[in-house]
Amino acid sequence: MTQKADLQSVLDRAAEGGRITPEEALDLYRSAPLHALGSAADAVRRRRYAGTEHIATYIIERNINYTNVCVTACKFCAFYAPPKDTAKGWTRDLDDILRRCAETVELGGTQIMFQGGHHPDYGVEYYEKHFAAIKKDFPQLVIHSLGASEVEHMARISGVSVEEAVQRIHAAGLDSFAGAGAELLPARPRKAIAPLKESGERWLEIMETAHGLGVESTSTMLMGTGETNAERIEHLRMIRDVQDRTGGFRAFIPYTYQPENNHLKGRTQATIFEYLRMIAIARLFFDNIAHIQGSWLTTGKEIGQLSLHYGADDLGSIMLEENVVSSAGAKHRSNRQEIIDLIRSADRVPAQRTTTYEHIVVHDDPANDPVDDRVVSHISSTAIEGGTAHPELKLLNAN
Ligand code: SF4
Repeated sequence: MTQKADLQSVLDRAAEGGRITPEEALDLYRSAPLHALGSAADAVRRRRYAGTEHIATYIIERNINYTNVCVTACKFCAFYAPPKDTAKGWTRDLDDILRRCAETVELGGTQIMFQGGHHPDYGVEYYEKHFAAIKKDFPQLVIHSLGASEVEHMARISGVSVEEAVQRIHAAGLDSFAGAGAELLPARPRKAIAPLKESGERWLEIMETAHGLGVESTSTMLMGTGETNAERIEHLRMIRDVQDRTGGFRAFIPYTYQPENNHLKGRTQATIFEYLRMIAIARLFFDNIAHIQGSWLTTGKEIGQLSLHYGADDLGSIMLEENVVSSAGAKHRSNRQEIIDLIRSADRVPAQRTTTYEHIVVHDDPANDPVDDRVVSHISSTAIEGGTAHPELKLLNAN
């Protein structure tokens, strides 16, 4: 364990951009004063974004859940239905998916997160067909979707290699992978919450393969399902090691476990302090990952706002539709003006961004704020039953 005076010197080194070891990161995570961590992380963020450090970004996207049928049965998941549960399971047809894409474009969304269960019949061909159809009708939409788990699953269903699966879905229209399925990468906590998922090493190996084939991704971490602090830092180390080789992770996005409607019992959720410490440690530890994203969906808007002072440079998305973490209890909802105001109240200038973090519009004058109040996040699990759309979107459908 690093002594108190040494902790400060490690923090100072990190704040100046020096690399810290996993052992140092663990000591800081456990023992550094919260505000000192935030201050060091903010110094790193300001240096990395010198010239635009006054800006914090957001994106408008839509999660499109194509099925909840899943053979993987993760214990933390409140979204899936096993294949034999035909009463609970559903799939969405292509016309419905394309209609949701049209609504996304209408509302100024730029990104689609195609997200669903590991359906026993969905191989590479399914994703090729759907991505090609989306790109044909909506070439302006970026398909930032799926993750290593889906790739492993679809390659197995189709009897092809992971390399071939990545190449084929990329050729069909997938632009980049979301960090889906990372959960916790170290073996013990991963087995405890997702025993049927591929190992953490395999998840990283598939992401490394994708990066090598020119398909970048983000990375995520699910906090608060019973993992230790050491396992959280080990998760970061595993990602940083791959990033040293590939440079393909654009962002790191920690988010907190939601406890409702699933099969994990007796878990203590991560506290907001643990979450803010993780945002700060991620900024200090990942000297090789550009963006650290604060999550307001699972932690609440105020904590999302605070994360901007603990090293985050981005507040993620206004999701025109989300049904996965909301099924497990995430209840926070927002619209574009609220996100703009939250960012302004954190003393930053809000900017809508693309998937690759270019600024689309910088909201530097409140008089010019967008007036379209239909851009509202919709995060109710009830939306999924029967494929009901967001009320504002229903209005669009009616027009
Ligand atoms: S988290 Fe994904 S893979 Fe796991 S059970 Fe839920 S839908 Fe299936």
